[in-house]
Amino acid sequence: MEFEAVIGLEIHVELNCATKLFCDCPNRPGDEPNLNTCPTCLWYPGAVPRLSRDALEKASLLCLGLGAELQPVSAFDQKVYYYPDLPKGFQLSQAHCPLSRGGGIDIMDETGKPKRLRIHHIHMEEDVARLVHEMEGRLPISLVDFNRAGAPLVEIVTEPDFRSPHDAMEFLKALRTQVRYVGSSECSMENGTMRVDANISIRPRGTDQMNTKVEVKNMNSIRHVGDAIAFEIGRQSAAVKAGEAVVLHTRLWDPDKKATFMMRAKFEGPCVPDPKVPVIELTAEYIEAMRSRLPEMPAARAERFIAQHGLTGEEAVFLSSDPEVAVYFEALIAEGVAPRTAMHWLTTQLIPAIRERGQKPGDTPVTPARFAGLLKMMSKDEINANAAREVMAHLFESDESPEAIVAARGFAQVSDSAELDSLIDKVLEDQPDAVAKVRAGQNKALGFLMGQVMQASGGKANPKIVRELLAKKLGTN
Ligand SMILES: [Zn+2]
Repeated sequence: MEFEAVIGLEIHVELNCATKLFCDCPNRPGDEPNLNTCPTCLWYPGAVPRLSRDALEKASLLCLGLGAELQPVSAFDQKVYYYPDLPKGFQLSQAHCPLSRGGGIDIMDETGKPKRLRIHHIHMEEDVARLVHEMEGRLPISLVDFNRAGAPLVEIVTEPDFRSPHDAMEFLKALRTQVRYVGSSECSMENGTMRVDANISIRPRGTDQMNTKVEVKNMNSIRHVGDAIAFEIGRQSAAVKAGEAVVLHTRLWDPDKKATFMMRAKFEGPCVPDPKVPVIELTAEYIEAMRSRLPEMPAARAERFIAQHGLTGEEAVFLSSDPEVAVYFEALIAEGVAPRTAMHWLTTQLIPAIRERGQKPGDTPVTPARFAGLLKMMSKDEINANAAREVMAHLFESDESPEAIVAARGFAQVSDSAELDSLIDKVLEDQPDAVAKVRAGQNKALGFLMGQVMQASGGKANPKIVRELLAKKLGTN
């Protein structure tokens, strides 16, 4: 029997608000433990939670950015469970009346066909405290840090539309891009601002059964999500073939062993409406105001890049996948750089250099104006590509203009024929073997001679003129 997977995702995204969801404590989970706390987020009896307006706005923008419908009425429930990371015994979450319903993300499936992966709903909830397990001598101890308690989260719950690791990974990449666009979160699985649980079941291919699912947690990158789903499909298929029943439980992904392991039976506590947090009523005006704040979203921007700047689909998708890169690209064009040059130099040179230095395209000393100045010097043949790469490195180190760097450090390109003439003659004299090979029709040797001349010029020769002069001297044109 052949099986297919039925997969749904639950994605927690931590909103980048300055304060927590129900109090004014700073939302900085990484601070010294238990620094950012108050009676509300320490969950003392009698504390009155007040919903953060900023969190509601950021959550609303996130919902709209994912094509979801904000609900006119939503409300918080008490999701009951008892654990040391939640001493009050319940988490404030929206179980019955979520902030939004619907929405979805369009991806390309493995065969290159467009596919829509639907979102069931998106709700807000508070994060729980963090447990730290340590050893005190030979005694295991557990510590609780409340800095994260009450941090503002949204949970995105999808429909079980996913059939493969590919679907899940593409969805998560697109989700991350779209949430970054609306500015609600960094969505980094590596630093924990995006956490993904996958619900996976299998069924005979071609049927529409919904079988018992297994929940997998603890994946720290989008790649881990793909690996964990692939492993779990294999494990469940083998179990069913061996006649074992799949039981509802939670498993943890171990990235080192590349396998999932049983953690616990899945427990769903009861949810009861919370009597303290007021019901959220969103007016049509509020929803419209939020909608008007949405930026141009990545898919629309990619289409515009294709139409307006003549990029290929792949290039447009790449440049629009990070809002800061997209803005940088258009700033270069506004400075008069040709779109193809801007695209090429951004993707192959500048972005890697920026990332290498731990900077961001929106916050780097190599501003679009300075980088455009450099690219324009190259377009005007004042410097060659080699020199441009070196000048780029200097742009990170000093605030001089590219023109000043070129002048001060002698990067200007040598296009003077007389000067290049003598350089080439010297190289031809030193390399009689290569010259003979070129004359015998071996074009590879021509490339070698080109390289020798470029080296002799300290990388400053204009390659176009060198090529012309060499061809003339060797009679290959
Ligand atoms: Zn607090």
